[in-house]
Amino acid sequence: EEKKSLNFIEQIIEEDLKSTHKKDDLKFRFPPEPNGYLHIGHASSICLNFGLGERYNAPVNLRFDDTNPIKEEQEFVDAIKEDVLWLGFKWAKECYASDYFQQLYDWAVKMIKDGDAYVDSQDSAAIAEQKGTPIKPGVASPYRERSVEENLELFEKMKNGETSEGAHVLRAKIDMASSNMLMRDPIMYRSLHKKHHRTGNNWMIYPMYDWAHGESDFIESISHSFCTLEFLPHRELYNWFVKKVSKEGDFIPKQREFARRNLSHTVVSKRKLLQLVEKGIVSAWDDPRMPTISGLRRRGYTPMSIRKFADTIGIAKRENIIDASLLEFCIREDLNKTAPRVMGVLDPVKLVITNYEEGKEEWLETENNPEDEKAGTRKIPFSKELYIEREDFKEEANRKFFRLSLGKEVRLKSAYIIKGESVVKDENGEITEIHCTYDPKSKSGSGSEESLRKVKGTLHWVSVPHAIEAEIRLYDRLFNVESPDSDKEKDFLEFVNPDSLKVINGFVEPSLEGAGVAEKFQFQRMGYFCVDKESSKGNLVFNRTVALRDSWAK
Ligand code: ATP
Ligand code: MG
Ligand code: MG
Repeated sequence: EEKKSLNFIEQIIEEDLKSTHKKDDLKFRFPPEPNGYLHIGHASSICLNFGLGERYNAPVNLRFDDTNPIKEEQEFVDAIKEDVLWLGFKWAKECYASDYFQQLYDWAVKMIKDGDAYVDSQDSAAIAEQKGTPIKPGVASPYRERSVEENLELFEKMKNGETSEGAHVLRAKIDMASSNMLMRDPIMYRSLHKKHHRTGNNWMIYPMYDWAHGESDFIESISHSFCTLEFLPHRELYNWFVKKVSKEGDFIPKQREFARRNLSHTVVSKRKLLQLVEKGIVSAWDDPRMPTISGLRRRGYTPMSIRKFADTIGIAKRENIIDASLLEFCIREDLNKTAPRVMGVLDPVKLVITNYEEGKEEWLETENNPEDEKAGTRKIPFSKELYIEREDFKEEANRKFFRLSLGKEVRLKSAYIIKGESVVKDENGEITEIHCTYDPKSKSGSGSEESLRKVKGTLHWVSVPHAIEAEIRLYDRLFNVESPDSDKEKDFLEFVNPDSLKVINGFVEPSLEGAGVAEKFQFQRMGYFCVDKESSKGNLVFNRTVALRDSWAK
């Protein structure tokens, strides 16, 4: 096992194991709200919680924080499960905050009876007005001293939907002068006459996050409940609520905080990602430009690359922005070892070998992956007419241009050395054909003196009569600026990159004819590509996952 120093979360756990906790006490949870698809920020939280589970051999629950029926849907529950599984993690139990609605209600009733909660019948503006400011104490609601009987009666009516939506809320009776604004009689329940994706119309009241979250942790005996930093001031309230529902000697969960992870040139917020989907800026939650786990998957990212990314950035106490190039580095590193090498030409121009026999075809051997000995070799067809990349030819070129030009030699990968001879142009002066000659003795791998001759450049190519046309989708950053949502004046949508998707038609070698959805390849010199879910035999579609940093020079 890799020796790494403990991060501050692991240090907290190690301290607890020395003092208050036994190893068997450890239990974690990942608690997404099913109001959207998981994104790369969630991957950090997933890797943190499930990673601790693996490290301490402790259970990790997948808990859906489904307390807001307005935004939550079964579609999102299903997508979240798929994503966590795809990342390679297994939860001990699948839990739902909605499964605790009855328990939460019973506890709330007890709190009313104990004088710890009351029904407030003011509107939200009045309640906000009375909250005060951090330096000015709040004012008590006129309903704060309502009788227990009246509170119980109203609360039951709220639950049954017999009162109107905005008429009442249930508030905890804590301290209107607390220096922590969250302790100034926070709302526990609001009326929402909405159908819930799991509980249907059983409940016309729904618990607030602060009331449901710690209680869910308590019910599940979670030892450490990790959340992002903005919840730090909620910790006092978390503890207060847990105290109210627990007895002396009960196992008490602990909330601890870590910094939210941000990725450059994108947004990691389900609410904002939803806007991109709803406004049609992207095609769907799994659009390959999205920083969602499903988008990254469709783009060609592997679970390993995302886990490596999360491990590399680790966890922090302070928020910062991680450069997207780190994520790209992680996928390149993974695909470099695993992706078969193939040839595909994205911007084709025809190359005619004038001294090659008309109608002849040769099947040349080429290696599938130089990084993987077991990957073997395959045969690729060669003929008189080939496609090469338009940018790989210049009529005249300086000494630094190691590709093809007139009078200069290059090698065609796994084939022959050729020399540029002349060009054919259309009426606009655009090159339609490049004519060259080849050296028949220079065949790669033949061992001949000519084959060992050093030439500066090697080009990829495909044979015109054998090539398969394919749609190729090239992606750029979704936003033009590093941090689109940190501008206070402007809406993040103003920074959308209008050129984030470019669709082209290219040609690929015939071995790709039957390439299946999600298969990954390195198109030599052009990058890593993944077969899109819209691809089919006869209608191939590739996503460029990421470009290559370096082109090979062999
Ligand atoms: P969003 O604004 O995208 O909805 P959220 O925090 O409201 O984010 P949840 O579904 O509540 O989303 O998140 C589930 C868990 O993932 C929480 O514990 C949350 O703290 C964590 N999480 C969410 N976003 C990030 C992030 N960017 N970096 C690290 N952890 C995150
Ligand atoms: Mg949340
Ligand atoms: Mg949220």
